Amino acid sequence: MRTKLIVLAAILAVLTGAAMVMGAASGLERLYVLHCGQNIGKDQSRWSPGVNEGKAIEFSDNCYLIRHAKGLLLWDTGVPDAVATMPDGMVVANGAITYRRTTTLAAQLTALGVKPADVTYVAVSHTHGDHVGNIAQFPSSTILIQGAEYDWAMTQPTKPAFAATQNIEKVAGDRDVFGDGSVTILSTPGHTPGHQSLLVLLPKTGALVLSGDAVHFRDNWEQRRVPSMNFNRDQTLASLQRIATVLAEHKGQLWINHDKPQSDQLKYAPQYYE
Ligand SMILES: [Zn+2]
Repeated sequence: MRTKLIVLAAILAVLTGAAMVMGAASGLERLYVLHCGQNIGKDQSRWSPGVNEGKAIEFSDNCYLIRHAKGLLLWDTGVPDAVATMPDGMVVANGAITYRRTTTLAAQLTALGVKPADVTYVAVSHTHGDHVGNIAQFPSSTILIQGAEYDWAMTQPTKPAFAATQNIEKVAGDRDVFGDGSVTILSTPGHTPGHQSLLVLLPKTGALVLSGDAVHFRDNWEQRRVPSMNFNRDQTLASLQRIATVLAEHKGQLWINHDKPQSDQLKYAPQYYE
């Protein structure tokens, strides 16, 4: 009898542990994918040295809104909403990239019934213009950014336009955003000095890693290719290995933000992932 009880207790402990690993015991509710721009690159080899030189490439650009019992987290803010009114888009990087927008981030949040003041956290993968374009739209949100990224961004000719009222929380390394392990910022430097990615453990969909720009498209992921403009090549490769390890550990999917063929397969808001 006593042995049976001990066995039962052991089984229960294992089951409880499994439930926590699966995220079932977390407050994570849903994830929305939002349209946050299209980037047209004049020459793909800017991102894949020696490969497809002179060939144009189109990138998707997404933002992700995560609803947790403890608040809303917006991951990245995309290209500026003002680009939606520019018929020829906005040309950046000395003509290498053109940003376009078919719909604004503001309109998509409104359609979901979300006001900027409802967004508890805005976390940015890094400070390039196609990720921080709308950061000032959330004046009362806490900004989660790596300290290394913030400090570096402030030395750049074009600085992110933070709102003066924003609470900027400089993260050092990984961060469990809601304290239950369901949404974790992963430090993945290399593309920029303080680049970060996001591990999301959804109750039904399972584990996802939102890449940021740790990698730009599937072929570069498979070939472990590093864009020549990246801040640090060795850090980039170490970060890709780290993401691969995390994916294996959680049997997760990698959602590569700028990979258009992959994004074309995703459900966009108002649909969502649970
Ligand atoms: Zn980007």
